[in-house]
Amino acid sequence: MTVRLFNTMSRKIEEFKPLVEGKVGFYSCGPTVYHYTHIGNLRSFIQNDILKRMLIENGYEVTHVMNITDVGHLTSDADSGEDKMEKGAARDNKSVFEVAKFYTDAFLKDFNDLNLIRPKHMPKATDYIQEQIDLIQQLEARGYTYKIEDDGIYYDTSKFPGYGKLTGGSLSGDRAGARVEFNNKKRNPTDFALWKFSPKNEKRQMEWDSPWGVGFPGWHTECCAMSMKLLGNHFDIHSGGEDLSRIHHNNEIAQSEPLVGAPWVNYWLHISFLIDKSGEKMSKSKGEFLGMDALRSRGFDPMAYRYLVLLSHFQAQLAFSWDALDAAATGYKNIVKRVAALLKEKSTAPVNETDFDLWHDKILGSVSDNMKTAEALVYIQEMLKSSEINTSTKLKLFEFIDKLLGLQFIDRAQKLVALESESAPTELQTLAEERIKAKNDKNWALADKIRNKIDEAGWTVIDTAQGSKLVKKV
Ligand SMILES: [Zn+2]
Repeated sequence: MTVRLFNTMSRKIEEFKPLVEGKVGFYSCGPTVYHYTHIGNLRSFIQNDILKRMLIENGYEVTHVMNITDVGHLTSDADSGEDKMEKGAARDNKSVFEVAKFYTDAFLKDFNDLNLIRPKHMPKATDYIQEQIDLIQQLEARGYTYKIEDDGIYYDTSKFPGYGKLTGGSLSGDRAGARVEFNNKKRNPTDFALWKFSPKNEKRQMEWDSPWGVGFPGWHTECCAMSMKLLGNHFDIHSGGEDLSRIHHNNEIAQSEPLVGAPWVNYWLHISFLIDKSGEKMSKSKGEFLGMDALRSRGFDPMAYRYLVLLSHFQAQLAFSWDALDAAATGYKNIVKRVAALLKEKSTAPVNETDFDLWHDKILGSVSDNMKTAEALVYIQEMLKSSEINTSTKLKLFEFIDKLLGLQFIDRAQKLVALESESAPTELQTLAEERIKAKNDKNWALADKIRNKIDEAGWTVIDTAQGSKLVKKV
């Protein structure tokens, strides 16, 4: 099936053509492990996962690399200010290495809960210090670098004529004005640090020897060094959140193309922000921290968040609210209930291959066409409602849908079926009988009180013609 993607570089939707027939080299920028991962960032990881699954379903062998930034990464794209990792260590009263390990593990738990396929490689920046030094030396040999005394080695963006081409326009004006920490020793406002020297008066926990002195690499360098080491000098797709395009990715291109020629990467994908009701980007710094724990503690299935993300297009901003998540959770559960009903039918009719192919192609076609996941979800609803498709075919389609969208419909439906057949503890059954008695006595207040008690215990009372039934809540 034809795959079409919006390429940030060309600013249009293009047909995807891999460098090597049948294979895809894919790099996505990973987390900085100094804190829990915000659901806004997780949106980006979910969309990367959809991209990968869609390519796999189209028959491609995908080599996915996602880095773990466990060093440096200053508080913004600027080259001065506090170091996120060292700051996280001071806050948590841990060593930088402990902080990195703790938040990497937390990130991987979120990754699993959201059913994201693990990348083939997840390189840590601290394991690739030598590769980063090599890359800086190559740039130095070609005259792209200069040194600022007591500060670091910088990239001279005026030496690279294509600087800023990913996002277009001049980057120098807005950047210089916007950054209070602007370092006036730089030759150009857009120049960035390749290697930072450790401050003389302070001992950093993470620092390394280099040809220029003890210090640590700049953030933009790691993605170039690791992607080229693991995917080769040229690869197919590079993705990340939209906040990375203007500076981080333009800087990655500036470091790579002088060494390997253009284009370094063929397709650039950027996933839009998660925004709050007022239209502002949701981030770590504002209000209650919204990580997966905030969702879990409110009883949301991580799949509800995945479903919410897939209801929107990756290029459109997604407004998050608890109401929106609640609605997505209900929509998700409704599909699960319908799949559970299909499972309970235990149909033995054969799969109708013509129907299967028709709906398979509709659904895969939507996602292959610039990742229109919301359209695919509409087709799924239509398919479910259709009385012309038999149960076996629907269930086989759901096996495919779970591979493509990773929404675990069948898994949750199987759990639901198992829960429904589970019988309630005796004390709850006694309560249910007392409730029937209260109802017969027209003691509605008591009946309601008992219902709430059962509800709090995680069960629902359903009144049927045959009497009341207890069903475990999902
Ligand atoms: Zn990156």
